[in-house]
Amino acid sequence: MKFKFCPICGDKLVEKYSWDEGGVPYCESDDIMFFDTPKPCVIVAVIKDNKILLLKQDYIFKNSKVLVSGYVTTGECVEETVKREVLEETGITVGEIKYLGSEYLDKREILMLTFMAKYESGEIKKSDEVDWANWGNIEDALCEMKEDEIGKRIVRKVLKEIGYEGTKAYRCDIKE
Ligand SMILES: [Zn+2]
Repeated sequence: MKFKFCPICGDKLVEKYSWDEGGVPYCESDDIMFFDTPKPCVIVAVIKDNKILLLKQDYIFKNSKVLVSGYVTTGECVEETVKREVLEETGITVGEIKYLGSEYLDKREILMLTFMAKYESGEIKKSDEVDWANWGNIEDALCEMKEDEIGKRIVRKVLKEIGYEGTKAYRCDIKE
């Protein structure tokens, strides 16, 4: 988001030259530059043997299962966000968090940081924000996540990471 007014004092921002960044919105009263701020968000595939943790969240996709996701909050590093979101949404504790790359959602200005993590402990106990949560067979995940394109890209990466060599998991992939 491009700032027009100072989020601290409300003054109209002016443009200030900042080396390689060029013109940056600047508050003269607070002496702060407001650089563009995409919203960082994590999305994580939780793996337990050959199972993957899937959710239904009707406000995201009506007819598709999704992976656990959530916004990074101030003061938190992203690995902490991964642990916190999985625990809050499903009651599961995870470890061995591995970064799988990032994606940018232009329309919503979201920077998606993608991960896989291993199940450590806990029983599934979903939050109110989640309509359904359960372990699914990883070979069925791509079929069950029809609408979640980013989620599916993560599952394909996970299949590589775990050394999956079959073809069954990819049966619902449409050739691009
Ligand atoms: Zn200000």
